[in-house]
Amino acid sequence: MRGTHIEKVIDARHGGSLKDWSVPLRMRQAPCKPNNDRHRTPATALDRRPQVKAMTEYRRLRRAIAGEAISRDTVAVGIMATDSILYVAALLGFCLTPGPLRWIELFVASIMAGALFLVGHDASHRALAASPWLNALIARLAFMPTLHPETAWNIGHNQRHHGATNLRGVDHVWTPWSPQEYRSATRVRRALYRFYRTPLGIGFYYSFELWWGHVWNSDHLDRSYAANARMTADKFIALAGFGLIYLGCFGVCAARGQAWTAAGFNALAAVIVPLVVYQYLMSITIFMHHTHPRIRWFPSRELYDPVAAQVLNTVHIRLPKPVELIFHEIFQHTAHHVNPRVPLYRLARAQRTLEAVHGPAIIQETFSIAYVLRLLRECQLYDYDAHRWLTIAEGLTIPDAKLRASA
Ligand SMILES: [Zn+2]
Repeated sequence: MRGTHIEKVIDARHGGSLKDWSVPLRMRQAPCKPNNDRHRTPATALDRRPQVKAMTEYRRLRRAIAGEAISRDTVAVGIMATDSILYVAALLGFCLTPGPLRWIELFVASIMAGALFLVGHDASHRALAASPWLNALIARLAFMPTLHPETAWNIGHNQRHHGATNLRGVDHVWTPWSPQEYRSATRVRRALYRFYRTPLGIGFYYSFELWWGHVWNSDHLDRSYAANARMTADKFIALAGFGLIYLGCFGVCAARGQAWTAAGFNALAAVIVPLVVYQYLMSITIFMHHTHPRIRWFPSRELYDPVAAQVLNTVHIRLPKPVELIFHEIFQHTAHHVNPRVPLYRLARAQRTLEAVHGPAIIQETFSIAYVLRLLRECQLYDYDAHRWLTIAEGLTIPDAKLRASA
């Protein structure tokens, strides 16, 4: 996909804004008909009313929550400082406390590493603080415990995921395979695909496919020399921060009288366990945000519908309020997609407004383990032609001739 028109229209400087949709609109065709309609008729170049209507609706929704897109530097610093203090305190507790209690403190540090990542996510969207330099600084600092280079994250998440949510070939977050793709994949890739859709494997999706595949080894866009240099510099910053956290923990453990090997092991656990726990939780979170029996994926930009993509294809997951607060309201995800410039401390209000304006069309679900297991069971493959989710077993029952006809 390097250098395609689709990617060139994604502006490298914004945080997933309305601008994403302004250029491709003129070349778009009508949105697909509702689910299970195999006889979709693409609109001609003259029939642009559905797109115009969709854009009007999208702009109306953005306007409805525009008043919430107000950021404050002091609030941003306060949130960053609070999360950092809790993270460092939990790590110190792990290094200094004897006995099994220390592992609970490491779990708390893991949760705080995830919370810090979400602060960085908001700052990377230029939403957390009012000052651009403060957002840039906080994003890099907050990403250190989870080893994310900001520039790569910005391109993969802000531009690709937000700029083309649920568009196959551009948005790489939990993109479902069609039955045909599944059948034509190698045996190893098929096994991995199935593994990611198990209670154990779901966490590894983020580690292998997103963090390693798309963040650390970013292959996005035809980048300029300056962009490549920024990418490299941010990798260095992330690695340096991660290394400093390791050295800090090692120093504390050694100062407490631990042998060097024990101190080395504990310091390694102090940085690796939060990384793994964070990646597992993040993987489940983003899976729930854009996978649901009512959610649609789009095979091409021509069939793309911005309202469906950002509003109807983003799930609001309800959790107990304390959990929502720890994870900075990230589960109020529809509002975040409609306008990524709404800071995390105003997201809940923006989501309420959106749900009042757009009503029950916005998907809302209450989190439970049974719910996640159901998604893993039911949403395995996606029929991009009929717009319906299938299990792998169902995908394998579709006759080859039918798949070839819809390809
Ligand atoms: Zn985002």
